[in-house]
Amino acid sequence: MYDKLIFELSVPGRIGYTLPKAKVPSYELPEELKRNNEPILPEVSEIDVVRHYTNLSLKNYGVDQGFYPLGSCTMKYNPKIHEQLVNNDSFTQLHPLQPASTVQGALKVYDELSYWLSELTGMAKFSFNGFAGAHGELIGLMIMKEYHLRRGDTKRTKVIVPSSAHGTNPASSSVVGFEVVEIPTNSEGCVDIDALKQVLTDEIAGIMLTNPNTLGLYEKDILLISKLLHDNGSLLYYDGANLNALLGVVRPGDMGFDIVHLNLHKTFSTPHGGGGPGSGPVGVREDLVDLLPNPQVIKASDGTYQLFDNPKSIGRVSGFYGNFLVVLKAYMYVLTLGQENVGNIAKLSVLNANYIKEALREHYYLPIDSICMHEVVFDGLISKAVTTLDVAKRLLDYGYHPPTIYFPLLFHQSLMIEPTEGESKETLDAFIETMKKIAEEALENPELLKTAPHNTVVRRLDEVQAARKPLIKYRDTLND
Ligand SMILES: *Cc1c(COP(=O)(O)O)cnc(C)c1O
Repeated sequence: MYDKLIFELSVPGRIGYTLPKAKVPSYELPEELKRNNEPILPEVSEIDVVRHYTNLSLKNYGVDQGFYPLGSCTMKYNPKIHEQLVNNDSFTQLHPLQPASTVQGALKVYDELSYWLSELTGMAKFSFNGFAGAHGELIGLMIMKEYHLRRGDTKRTKVIVPSSAHGTNPASSSVVGFEVVEIPTNSEGCVDIDALKQVLTDEIAGIMLTNPNTLGLYEKDILLISKLLHDNGSLLYYDGANLNALLGVVRPGDMGFDIVHLNLHKTFSTPHGGGGPGSGPVGVREDLVDLLPNPQVIKASDGTYQLFDNPKSIGRVSGFYGNFLVVLKAYMYVLTLGQENVGNIAKLSVLNANYIKEALREHYYLPIDSICMHEVVFDGLISKAVTTLDVAKRLLDYGYHPPTIYFPLLFHQSLMIEPTEGESKETLDAFIETMKKIAEEALENPELLKTAPHNTVVRRLDEVQAARKPLIKYRDTLND
């Protein structure tokens, strides 16, 4: 029924395992529960499988292989000791329906990480129910909406989002039912205060901001902005997906933010994507704590931890209480750093980004020339000999994951580089040399860049089709 035509490594009869004899009596399944056709599976030996997946993995690229300066994504190293420690039956075998008395340690991790994140952000309490940054935004905005509704303030149907914002911000606002009011960015790359004042009406529920903003620049007027919003009865939401630039030095709560989300899979060193699911914890100021999603972890007066369904909460946003192993990795990260080291993350990530900015400014155009925070945005090559896409494709030939391109949308040729704090001077220098070499190649042999990449498994893909019609099955015919 199936043969080499479907799986080219498959050989009929070849197996890669033997199952142990069952220790329980066999049970004959009723006919109606049995499948009609044999499953379509490859027949391969263990070494075939190992080589197949190892070779596939080598076609991928990760931070364990090389520099990964993807702006607004904070692709920092994920310490291997975290993986080792969480791979312990005491953690992996926990069940979310176990009685709280049997998972005191896990609940303590949630409670203590909530404390540390609150210390780092100036919030009162965090919830770990969110599975991603965008999920955190959704939760935070639901809290914002409830806050106004419970005060009987039903007019507040709009949320302000700056034009430079991450795409998830307007998307989350829309999902929660808010109308998005976009405000422009001024010539210094920051919120245009006059434009902000013009849209501040009694219909504004709040503003979503990230600081440093997506241009990698610090919003210097943040205290003025928060005063304007609060005087207007509106709340401030902080998109803290990338907190690297501030961690241990400046706190969103002290800037006047009321609701914060963080991305543990960016700032707190837990893996993105394939390495494990994400976590977008949401923190709030004291008077919003009751609104956090259920269940909430609380420490009872007798010192035990409990899961509590708060009747004042916005309700449930996930099946259980978030991704425990991800939270555990972030907890280890915070404890490993300690209070004495956490501030170095901000200092070194900002230093690394500025080092790259200064080194590349003769070749790449700096649309806003000021000290950047944890990332730097160029507007393509000064020479304009080739596009940012060509530069990014050529970087693949040199074995680098390219920076973020064509985001933020403010510039036509955006090239957004975020080196993170963990990279050495040698790594940064090698990347800088490569970027300079590409700038020279663009002048000498632009065709070479326009047809790049040359050394990769696949060449230029149709990115629209790849996103709209992803081929995620080995064969379209494998529907079984
Ligand atoms: C990554 C990011 C998000 C979204 O986080 P996800 O986990 O991908 O949903 C939101 N805002 C900013 C600024 C980000 O960089």
